[in-house]
Amino acid sequence: MKSQVYYTDARARYKRNLYDKLETIVKRSEILNCIEKNDLVAIKIHAGEPGNTTFLNPTFIRKIVEMVKEREAKPFITDTTTLYVHKRHNAVDYSISALKNGFSYSTVDAPFLVADGLIGDDYSTVKIDGEILKEVYIGSNIFNADALIVLSHFKGHEMTGFGGAIKNVGMGCASKRGKFHQHSGVYPKIIKEKCTGCELCVNRCSFNAISLINKIATIDEKKCKGCGDCLVVCKSSAIKTRWETKAEEFQKKMTEYAYGVLKTKKAKVGYVNFLINITPDCDCCDWSDVSIVPDLGILASKDIVAIDKASVDLVNKAPINPLGKLKDKIESKDKFYDLNKVNWRVQLEHGQKIGLGNMNYKLIKID
Ligand code: SF4
Ligand code: SF4
Repeated sequence: MKSQVYYTDARARYKRNLYDKLETIVKRSEILNCIEKNDLVAIKIHAGEPGNTTFLNPTFIRKIVEMVKEREAKPFITDTTTLYVHKRHNAVDYSISALKNGFSYSTVDAPFLVADGLIGDDYSTVKIDGEILKEVYIGSNIFNADALIVLSHFKGHEMTGFGGAIKNVGMGCASKRGKFHQHSGVYPKIIKEKCTGCELCVNRCSFNAISLINKIATIDEKKCKGCGDCLVVCKSSAIKTRWETKAEEFQKKMTEYAYGVLKTKKAKVGYVNFLINITPDCDCCDWSDVSIVPDLGILASKDIVAIDKASVDLVNKAPINPLGKLKDKIESKDKFYDLNKVNWRVQLEHGQKIGLGNMNYKLIKID
């Protein structure tokens, strides 16, 4: 049995812009049909770290808000606070950052509510029977919502290979306790021969876990929270994820968190992946590199595993941007592995194994 994934490419023309195409695939996929009158509908987004310029355009989100309102439901835009201490670490900072990135009521037509409270400790516990986890800690506003619509900017990610719907739900709906829970045990390592002692990672680490010893960066594992933030700032490729098995365990935990979130929604959930500005790094970065491949379009599905599998397959079939980060791997058949040296299949395979979704899909193309 294959799951259905609806797909429209990124081309637009006279009287057929991308909002029109988005509306068509959302309608055809029936992902909003689960929404009932007066439902509180969480629209899960990532509002982007200030400085990032390729997070999901708020005007796409407004289109979904309008469609939810047509069903006489009550949508709100939401995300959780971050583990690291940048500009989305608490609800005040995140709300200001979201406003500055354009997620105002006047733009998206719905309020932006941080899901896990003022300091990230407002969560609800969900019992699961996962391979690794027995309970997960979900931001309360997402836990309490009647329905969940997940809008994901599909791109690379240093810890999970790619970031799509599974990561948007598994990590993105978790409270701070939940994020610690998933990251614990994933410590990066320094390749001493490559370290130039530039201190970029030292200044970036929110937990004072890195110092220079004999002009070489050194990580104090007692302080390290495994957030992965240092990986993205090193320009010398001197920081790597330690032990593939740990990275795999991290992805499994993230997938089991997604399972816990969806358990609370009883199928009142839908997904849209935007394969537009497919950057090598995630939207938590306060910069945006150019896309690794051209804009590919938008996908919609009721299956979280199928939509991510279809998305990664589309990226792997696309030509590489000769001006982007993969310019020296123009023949790459596995772009996210070549970017991040992470086996991204773990999140999909584990998701399928625990009943989160289906890796087999039918791609239904809509013009
Ligand atoms: S950012 Fe990289 S090169 Fe610079 S000190 Fe850290 S590990 Fe070394
Ligand atoms: S050393 Fe790196 S992974 Fe560990 S807490 Fe600091 S930034 Fe995060």
